[in-house]
Amino acid sequence: MSLANGRTYLAIPGPSVVPDRVLNAMHRAAPNIYEGPIVTLTESVVSDLKRVVGTAHHAALYIGNGHAAWEAALANTHARGDKTLVLATGSFAKGWGRNAAGLGLEVEVLDFGTRATLDLDRISAYLRADKSHQIRSILLVHVDTASSVRNDIAALRACVDEAGHPALLMVDCIASLACDAFDMDAFGADVTVAACQKGLMTPPGMAFVFFNPKAALARERADCVTAYWDWKPRANPAIYPEYFCGTTLTHHLFGIRAALDMIFEEGLPAVFTRHSILARAAWAAFDTWGRAGDLSMNIADPDTRSCAVTTIRLRAPDGTRLRKWVEQNAGLTLGIGLGMAPPDDPAWHGFFRLGHMGHLNAPMLLGALGTIEAGLTALEIEHASGALDAAARVCAQPSATISEIKTKAAIA
Ligand SMILES: *Cc1c(COP(=O)(O)O)cnc(C)c1O
Repeated sequence: MSLANGRTYLAIPGPSVVPDRVLNAMHRAAPNIYEGPIVTLTESVVSDLKRVVGTAHHAALYIGNGHAAWEAALANTHARGDKTLVLATGSFAKGWGRNAAGLGLEVEVLDFGTRATLDLDRISAYLRADKSHQIRSILLVHVDTASSVRNDIAALRACVDEAGHPALLMVDCIASLACDAFDMDAFGADVTVAACQKGLMTPPGMAFVFFNPKAALARERADCVTAYWDWKPRANPAIYPEYFCGTTLTHHLFGIRAALDMIFEEGLPAVFTRHSILARAAWAAFDTWGRAGDLSMNIADPDTRSCAVTTIRLRAPDGTRLRKWVEQNAGLTLGIGLGMAPPDDPAWHGFFRLGHMGHLNAPMLLGALGTIEAGLTALEIEHASGALDAAARVCAQPSATISEIKTKAAIA
């Protein structure tokens, strides 16, 4: 007996749920790509993306996924043989580092493991030891989608400045944009990369690189960049086709326009608060289940957890068993564990991730949690009771949650 018929729910950390409004906006005849409304549409998308990221500077758009944004950002800021420092807090910064090595950069990695945020003292010591400033850039993720850690970008900026190091600070916000608060210019990122399929609620296909004047200067000595990836014409097109170095994105532009409208109608601060409350509802459930048995959150400290995704640890193979049960029996798809164990290691099956990013409300989240509880029960995976009560209480008193967050921020 399956209970999976009805609307299925993809609760992985990207691609995220696409709102009907975005889908409907894309359901139209192809537009003229040379002139007419497409030009103002593109301009409005660029300026509103900058608002979401929090920058007054430049944006280059690409037809591509997050990996394309990684490559574009690196190619425009480095010469072959340049040294880059990767700050790894999970799989994704390491992936960006592999991308850098492929472009001919020399990659150094400071690894903070998969269960914690950055250690600023270690970073400071490392940068101070680089007296001749060989390190040209620092690559890291705001939110690592594998570990679900959230790194404090403003604190890292202060650390780099205190060390007197001139490296470019390059931040991957692919998972976090429009989920966890980010403010590029205020936080002091020199380059930010993002993509459309997570917090921006649009099917995969658009990648973004935002860069400030310091990064624009680095472009002048970059020798990795080819005409296609060059951010200069894309950020400042003399003619319309230069935005995308060829055929423009057509339907995706209508889709992301609708997504941006939804974000600004709700209000960006309200979008962050909604993510924060729903994440806390999920954490309340996970905390409660974990009072008996082996289930626990990968990141113990809630102050360094992302509001976009939560990584869960169980006893192998219960992660995989649970994922399969909820998908087959209930139409809920959870994310696999990433980077926690090699895929051929039995330990690989001891993880899952719940995405809670983008187009998400209380019934979706509470439905996912209720379904996980059904799976835990059906599979006889040991867990404490009361998780749904705990999650519902967070949703019932969102103002209490907000004041708790504010109190913590004031103390910090
Ligand atoms: C999803 C993601 C990526 C990769 O994006 P793709 O579109 O799969 O190339 C990179 N970094 C982070 C933090 C992500 O969440």
